[in-house]
Amino acid sequence: MRRIYLDHAATTPTHPEVVEAMLPFFTDAFGNPSSIHSQGQEAKGAIEGARIKVAELIGARSEEIIFTSGGTEADNFALKGVAYANEHKGNHIITTPIEHHAVMEACKFLERRGFRITYLPVDEHGLVDPQDVRKAITDNTILISVMHASNEVGTIEPVEEIGKIAREAGVYFHTDAVQTVGHIPVNVDKLKVDLLSISGHKLYGPKGVGALYVRKGTRLVSLMHGGEQEKRRRAGTENVPAIVGLGKAVGLAGREIDKEAERLAYLRDKLIKGLGEKIDHIRLNGHPTRRLPNNVNVSVDFVEGESMLLNLDLEGICASTGSACSSAILEPSHVLLALGLPPEQAHGSLRFTLGRENTEADIERVLEVLPEIVTKLRAMSPLLKTQK
Ligand code: PLP
Repeated sequence: MRRIYLDHAATTPTHPEVVEAMLPFFTDAFGNPSSIHSQGQEAKGAIEGARIKVAELIGARSEEIIFTSGGTEADNFALKGVAYANEHKGNHIITTPIEHHAVMEACKFLERRGFRITYLPVDEHGLVDPQDVRKAITDNTILISVMHASNEVGTIEPVEEIGKIAREAGVYFHTDAVQTVGHIPVNVDKLKVDLLSISGHKLYGPKGVGALYVRKGTRLVSLMHGGEQEKRRRAGTENVPAIVGLGKAVGLAGREIDKEAERLAYLRDKLIKGLGEKIDHIRLNGHPTRRLPNNVNVSVDFVEGESMLLNLDLEGICASTGSACSSAILEPSHVLLALGLPPEQAHGSLRFTLGRENTEADIERVLEVLPEIVTKLRAMSPLLKTQK
């Protein structure tokens, strides 16, 4: 059976050229970048090369890039790093209820330690109103964190407008751009952000590596103490192969970003339209137009997302019912609930996230298979019976 992978927001397959670029750093070029000998310096040079590539893709300077173990660490570093470095100025942080758990849980951690967190409202599409950000800022506000685009519903937030407001107020601004870097153009100056999180495995790079962009002059404390790596901002021997892989992945992404976004948006729209035509009582979650080119998130009435997911899997189609991190728990997604969906609709949600290897034939296959699955499940559904 042909496998159709439509879960690229959870992770992407590592690009073969990325794997190739990484391999020598496990074998011949295995040196420790902190070593002064040539073996070490070769590894160090490779890290610096990757740093330049990451910086280039987002319009930053290479010294503003700190490599991390992934998006989760980058988010934690931004939130906790800024909070503890600036607590003498205030204890107030502004965020949204639709952030990834890496931001949400870091905020809850800080809340338990005396910081005050404001969770801004979002509209039914998951959009933050920049004016709500403006109203929430107080003399005590030290940080605003609003994600660039939602990993669940694909809504692209008005980060540029929020950045302008944050800058006028003199408040640091962080954005989790894990789902956008490498997928749509991202420029830290245009977005007016001070901190920005990146993850390798969401852009055809390896897992366990990411980066935090930190604008020059931003005050943040380190979370890792030890050696002098990353200019003493993040101690620990660098994961050289993974960093090299991230550098290669951003280089490849940068080459084809507009063309690929256009191709995926076409496939996305075909899937949204086809599902709407073939399945009744279905609705699109997230913003209809301000949306990631690869994201389709729908709620199907009278069926459980998990049942659809398992039936699709039997047909070789990989999708998701929410963020991968929470897919082991059968609780409705906090993002869909924040958008105002009743729990039963949140439970009936399905997310398809498209990627580089997907073709029109993949979309046609989903459009052939899913309506039949929904009909079958509805025929057995107690949810439908209670409705009748
Ligand atoms: N932020 C967002 C928006 C994500 O989608 C993810 C991964 O699902 C993360 C952060 C965490 O990134 P990582 O898996 O690299 O820790």
